[in-house]
Amino acid sequence: MLMRQPTLRYVCTKPPRVLSDPRSSVALSALDVRRGGIVDVGNTKAALLCTMSLTLCAAAGANTSQCSRAQQVRRAASRTGVVGLSEPIVSTAFDAGNVEVNGVTSDAESASFQLGIRRDPFTQGTDETAHSQWFYFRVSGVLGKKSTFLLNTTGCSYEPGYDNFRTVASYDRKNWFRVESTEWQKTKDGSQLNWTITPTADSVFFAYFQPYSYEQHMDLMAEFSNSNNCDYLTFGRTLDGRPLDMLRFGDGPLQLYVVARQHPGESMASWLAEGLIRRLADQADPKAKALMRAATVNVVPNINPDGSIRGHLRTNAGGANLNREWSSGIYPGYDAPTLERSPEVYYILQFLEQNGCDAYIDVHGDEEIEANFIAGSEGVAGYETIAPLYDNFQQALVRASPDFQIGKGYDKDLPGEANLAICSNAVAHKFGCLAVTLEQPFKDTTFNTPEPDVGWNGPRAMKLGAALIDALLDNVDDIRKSKDLEFGVRAKKPA
Ligand SMILES: [Zn+2]
Repeated sequence: MLMRQPTLRYVCTKPPRVLSDPRSSVALSALDVRRGGIVDVGNTKAALLCTMSLTLCAAAGANTSQCSRAQQVRRAASRTGVVGLSEPIVSTAFDAGNVEVNGVTSDAESASFQLGIRRDPFTQGTDETAHSQWFYFRVSGVLGKKSTFLLNTTGCSYEPGYDNFRTVASYDRKNWFRVESTEWQKTKDGSQLNWTITPTADSVFFAYFQPYSYEQHMDLMAEFSNSNNCDYLTFGRTLDGRPLDMLRFGDGPLQLYVVARQHPGESMASWLAEGLIRRLADQADPKAKALMRAATVNVVPNINPDGSIRGHLRTNAGGANLNREWSSGIYPGYDAPTLERSPEVYYILQFLEQNGCDAYIDVHGDEEIEANFIAGSEGVAGYETIAPLYDNFQQALVRASPDFQIGKGYDKDLPGEANLAICSNAVAHKFGCLAVTLEQPFKDTTFNTPEPDVGWNGPRAMKLGAALIDALLDNVDDIRKSKDLEFGVRAKKPA
């Protein structure tokens, strides 16, 4: 669904009276509202009250959006007694909110918003940049107004990634759709992302991708921390004091990891993790059960909750890009991870060392490539022993989900040239195991399974997460052989 049309329900209970309101005011008393009729609202002739039929409304000179706006005014009046026609307001003071307002112009028919993106803290010592790309905001006071958004994208981390991107929008934060009119344009000073929409509700949310809130995360942890299907544990704390949550499914001898959201702006990673978790917990799913007999599946749905809540693209509360924190000495004089700057990586590495690691999937989102793909650890010394596992896992993912593909992806590192500060390289190097970066698109799976109305989104990411079970199950035998572990069926956990 691209755009919802307004639902107008006018019940004509008595003949309308036409009032001329000389005050041209934006505030109407409840008495005015009860009287009914046509009034001038903010210099605009608008139809008011349920006492009018749509036909009469139109005959009085009001257009559809004015009727719709007037209807909302009436509803507000019935609740509060006093009507204030709110001016357009942009809000980001909520979980993951991020936008800067450079200017708003508005009249009765239209509104225009000049916006920018607030940057992450500077990544001192690694990327040496202040990242930006993620945005998420609410605008209210726009019902029926043709609203144009001009988002300055100059200097964003993946500026060309906005090309062919379409903004994500929602009226209820449950159903998200792509705004068809979105265009990315080069300007004389840089670039901007533009879109125009005439909202069918007074409040609408816009984002770079369907958000996955911390409340959703907390709900998920609450649901499964009380489940017999898995073990819940906190393996560390963030700089802002939030717990680092993990769910462990099964009790097989292999230790598999699926860790999401090192980069907090990549909310599709949390959606994928939830899809995986829900299928692992499905007692009727024979493949999930078989996988859990062969392996313990350790799932971290959000390893960077601080950055997520702060509306960052790539950094934690301390300004660290966590996917550059996995080894010391890669960047001159830079020790990593540290408890002071990157406890998230410090604690997960400690957990891997204590519990072992036989395969690791680091889940991300990619701003530019319009496909799901994985990247390996080709540049790591000794990669040739891992390569067959990597190839088989890729093939298994293709079989498991038509939304996955091979071909579109990153250039491979040359032997010996892996950046060991990056998670997948560091894990492959340290544990000699299959370690991949799984990338999902911010845009859509244009190359194989496009869905233009919604693009890649949360529900689709959940299905890909569920499909990981098929791909992992296809490979656990090879993973076990590569690790030379005893393979056996363990006793089931008590119900
Ligand atoms: Zn990432």
